[in-house]
Amino acid sequence: MKLRVLGCYGGELLGYKSTALLIDDHLLIDAGNVSILKSADDLSRIRHLVLSHAHLDHIKALPFVAEQLAEGGTGLDVYGTDEVIDSLKSHIFNGITWPDLSKLPTVQNPAVRYKRIHAELPVNIGGLSVRAVPVNHTIPSAGFIVGNEISSILYSGDTGPTERLWKAANNTEDLKALMIEVSYPDRLKERAIITRHLTPQLLVEEFKKIDIKGDMLIFIYHLKPLFVDEIKREICGLKIDNLILLEEGDEFEV
Ligand SMILES: [Zn+2]
Ligand SMILES: [Zn+2]
Repeated sequence: MKLRVLGCYGGELLGYKSTALLIDDHLLIDAGNVSILKSADDLSRIRHLVLSHAHLDHIKALPFVAEQLAEGGTGLDVYGTDEVIDSLKSHIFNGITWPDLSKLPTVQNPAVRYKRIHAELPVNIGGLSVRAVPVNHTIPSAGFIVGNEISSILYSGDTGPTERLWKAANNTEDLKALMIEVSYPDRLKERAIITRHLTPQLLVEEFKKIDIKGDMLIFIYHLKPLFVDEIKREICGLKIDNLILLEEGDEFEV
């Protein structure tokens, strides 16, 4: 699988873009940012979007991506659990915040096609298996295990301390990489707990629940831009093998 990091922060400030991961050029996991794509050609290859949850830093680019794909005649399949799809319908594509792109430009060929998925039931999306696993966040949210016939990766979505996702990880034989959120520095642990996110020390506690195999890559993302330097210092201090702090534009083959 080819991974391309289009954004990897839990918000936006100069130099930091919200979260989006592009897999094999056609599957987007979350849509916080696509502006890094250099050409309309790159963007036109996107066919599917899987959303972890409906917070703004994960859906911000969705209306613009879908509109552009509709102009190219393809539109966008948007996958999410019932809560995510219902939230998009009620709060984003409601004719107020933005036009209802599930009916435009035409009802027959809309920009957005909703695809409801269910927890723990893998779906085949363009040749990739995608399995949603509920995590611990302030609104219904999922992490994902995405795989092809050779390897799988895990994407945590936004989560505080959680269980089910790590059980699923431990049952996935070919898991090659974990992409895990860390949002706040340790001094803001209380805020992380209230908003259901992780700090570096909370990450260490989560590691105790995961069977991490020797060569497994650990990608850290979703740092809140205001605290990037502090969080990076704390994470580097943990001295964890194979840990990579993601940067926008990073590409990996797993
Ligand atoms: Zn987020
Ligand atoms: Zn969130």
